[in-house]
Amino acid sequence: MSPSDTPITTEDDEGSRDFIRDIVHEDLNSGRKSSVVTRFPPEPNGYLHIGHAKSIVLNFGIAEEFGGRCHLRFDDTNPAKEEQEYIDAIQEDVRWLGFNWGDHLYYTSDYFEQLYVWAQHLITEGLAYVDDLTADEIREHRGTLTESGTNSPYRDRAPEESLDLFQRMRAGEFENGAKVLRAKIDMSSGNINLRDPVIYRILHAEHPRTGKDWCIYPNYDFAHGQSDAIEEITHSICTLEFEDHRPLYDWLIKNLPVPSEPHQYEFARLNLTYTVLSKRRLMQLVNEGHVEGWDDPRMPTISGYRRRGYPAAAIRDFAGRIGVSKSNATLEVQALEACVRDHLNTHAERRMAVLNPLKVVIENYPEDQSEELDALNNPNDETAGKRKVPFSRELYIERDDFMEDPPKKFFRLAPGREVRLRYAYFVTCTEAIKDDNGEIVELRCTYDPETKGGNAPDGRKVKATLHWVSTAHAVGARIHQYEHLFTEEIPGGGAGDFLEDINSNSLSILTGCKLEPALQNAKHGETVQFERLGYFCLDKTATSDELVFNQTIGLRDNWAKVKAKG
Ligand code: ATP
Ligand code: MG
Repeated sequence: MSPSDTPITTEDDEGSRDFIRDIVHEDLNSGRKSSVVTRFPPEPNGYLHIGHAKSIVLNFGIAEEFGGRCHLRFDDTNPAKEEQEYIDAIQEDVRWLGFNWGDHLYYTSDYFEQLYVWAQHLITEGLAYVDDLTADEIREHRGTLTESGTNSPYRDRAPEESLDLFQRMRAGEFENGAKVLRAKIDMSSGNINLRDPVIYRILHAEHPRTGKDWCIYPNYDFAHGQSDAIEEITHSICTLEFEDHRPLYDWLIKNLPVPSEPHQYEFARLNLTYTVLSKRRLMQLVNEGHVEGWDDPRMPTISGYRRRGYPAAAIRDFAGRIGVSKSNATLEVQALEACVRDHLNTHAERRMAVLNPLKVVIENYPEDQSEELDALNNPNDETAGKRKVPFSRELYIERDDFMEDPPKKFFRLAPGREVRLRYAYFVTCTEAIKDDNGEIVELRCTYDPETKGGNAPDGRKVKATLHWVSTAHAVGARIHQYEHLFTEEIPGGGAGDFLEDINSNSLSILTGCKLEPALQNAKHGETVQFERLGYFCLDKTATSDELVFNQTIGLRDNWAKVKAKG
């Protein structure tokens, strides 16, 4: 089994893997359902992160596998925090991940009128009432996990009176917080969500889509299940924190004249080490300037990963492999990185780039000569073809690839030693030239013209192959290298201040890097391997005057080493 076939699972996944798919399968088989309709319901109050990707891949994936459909529904019931920018970004991200909702784009705000009608239905049935208690008083009446709550003095208000008040709430007669609408269920229920939950609140705020039409808004619990019912969602899949809300979800579906009866199923949220997956915290990172924006390549957002050069297919692969379970756990971020590396190793084209250049002069190569050598675009994929790489008398190699006085295990270039220049020739170092400070500024080498293409006809071997770039043909670039955004696996240890664990070395900028000329034509959204260095992609800030590349990921997992060095 190759690493990419291995499912990444949390401990007690055994036997419960894909329990949601089992349910869907069973529902179809038994005829309980005749089709499958799922939905991904983001609240447009931030950008999507990798946790959302898990939910997207699950919901769209199930719809695809069972011949159903998946809706994209914006859960826009909180006008105070929601913005068009987020609505646009979310659509772009879902599309980029490779999913298509077709004509099924919906907004909870489209259902405000219907929800309002249903709220009145509950009132008329004696199942909801307008409460004048303040938010604090409501909290005090709610009771605790061990003590039951107490009824509000307004609980037995006549339905006619509640109806009138509710209509006046909508008409804008009352201030924010002056009244709420509550479902009348059971103040002594063991489930606090059933202790007469608030289902409508007054909020004089402009909504991005409905403008000033409304000054009362349904809360999540009242809007969500009913929206599912309107859209005839069969399997309403959400994260575990909503498990305790399911009885309320079911109560509302049972007591309202809804057109369908969806069921809610819960799975564990994805958490990853060395990052935070909560829109509130990500928002804080953006607003306080700890990162450049939501799409900063260090962010665990879909847009951040895209800018970083993570392929959508690798994210899909990861989200599929982590499985669906009922227990919350934190997965190692290295599992995601391994998917990215696997994917790029197979698909990324190779290029040569020198990040920290040291000049090399090939003394026996003619001054005015240059030649074009054949280089493979991807040794793992013949169809990727070849490209030409210019070679000439003056080259750059990586400073780290030379040592004047090498220790035993250093096999790269050193005085008197022969190495291979990738796709070119064998070269031997004859001299290291230093400046007044004793720093090496240039190497003198000779080449063996018989070794063109990188092999010696006499069969002699060399121990190292170096990448290089011809100085006359090189293009300059700035390169951004990244480490994890946080120094701790669980930033803030869970309860502490996550900002205290920000990694101050998470970004380093290298200037004066030298790239082979083919990289002048690098395209946005295409990640390439810089041979021997890692994977890189063109950043959105690159201009024709200055190329800027982001390091997507190294060739191997170096983090363990960095950590050990401390
Ligand atoms: P956050 O906690 O980051 O603010 P949220 O749950 O409030 O996230 P929503 O926009 O409401 O964000 O989420 C849309 C959907 O994505 C929901 O169904 C939610 O359950 C799911 N989701 C959010 N975070 C994760 C996660 N970490 N893992 C899996 N699914 C998630
Ligand atoms: Mg939410």
